[in-house]
Amino acid sequence: MSYFEKIIGNHALKERLTRDIRNNSLSHAYIIEGPRGSGRHTIALTAASAIACLNNDTSDTVPCGKCINCRKIAEGHSPDVKIISLEEDKSTIGIEAIREIKNDIYIAPNDLKVKVYIIDDADKLTVQAQNAFLLSLEEPPHYVLFFIICENSSLLLETVKSRAPILRTERISDRELERYLLSQDKRAVELRDQSSDDFKTLIRISAGSIGYALELLDSRRRKAVFDCRRVATDIISILSSPNRSKVFETVVSMGSKRQEISRQIVFLQYAIRDLILLKKSDEASLCFFEDRENAAELATHFTSKQLIDLYDATVTALEDLEHNTNVRLTLISMMQNANLI
Ligand SMILES: [Zn+2]
Repeated sequence: MSYFEKIIGNHALKERLTRDIRNNSLSHAYIIEGPRGSGRHTIALTAASAIACLNNDTSDTVPCGKCINCRKIAEGHSPDVKIISLEEDKSTIGIEAIREIKNDIYIAPNDLKVKVYIIDDADKLTVQAQNAFLLSLEEPPHYVLFFIICENSSLLLETVKSRAPILRTERISDRELERYLLSQDKRAVELRDQSSDDFKTLIRISAGSIGYALELLDSRRRKAVFDCRRVATDIISILSSPNRSKVFETVVSMGSKRQEISRQIVFLQYAIRDLILLKKSDEASLCFFEDRENAAELATHFTSKQLIDLYDATVTALEDLEHNTNVRLTLISMMQNANLI
């Protein structure tokens, strides 16, 4: 019998959950920590299915994905699986959401043997909300199971963390991601057949995030992101040429939308990061450049200090963009701060 077959990578996490389910030694809460798109929510839902699956004694794979409980959970129709997440346009989850849980946990489950609460973005819970949550977390009814999902568990109160083991999602490899996409989504197969370069770039940009990779399979979204990436490539290539001052023409034509420019600058940071690492080691693992030789050649046009200054200038520019400064001025001072020209 194998558990969690559909979840790729994350071996340690799967092993722990499998053991706890098999030995009937589930904790009443787990913290799942990891970057967005690393499958945290899917893991929580799959664990809920594995516990509730009607065939978990007989099926070859658990959850079976076929019984009524598995199907209801997968389709989001189970009244016993509740999801609490950040509301759109809000930056925190307040105490009201927690009060709802507090009132709800004492109502026995409808048709599953468990009642599962998945708290997405738990690191966005206010301190007040976390304190209120502690009451539910301390001694919940035996059928209650919490999955507390966060990017960074250090933002959770110690008192919350001490009551739930932390399971960390692992970065899945490019290979695993590639295999997953090709087996799950026909747009991935189409893209690979049309342009294997674009498909490779998509895998690289996704950096192990399934969620992000799936987003990029949408051609419009992909084009927007690839365009931003190209701007970063252009800037680096001009800066490595003898005529560096030409870069001002490029930066002032970067557009006017803050969000788009921020994304372009983030890509520029990835590129600079690669070059800084290549200065230190030929074997550095790269997150921006496809062609290692080409990247190594680009790196020879800069000193480490220049690259670090340039990186610092991008950090300042991103901060400035958040504070409603004049976009053009921000971009020009980014290049001036870099001391390259
Ligand atoms: Zn099932």
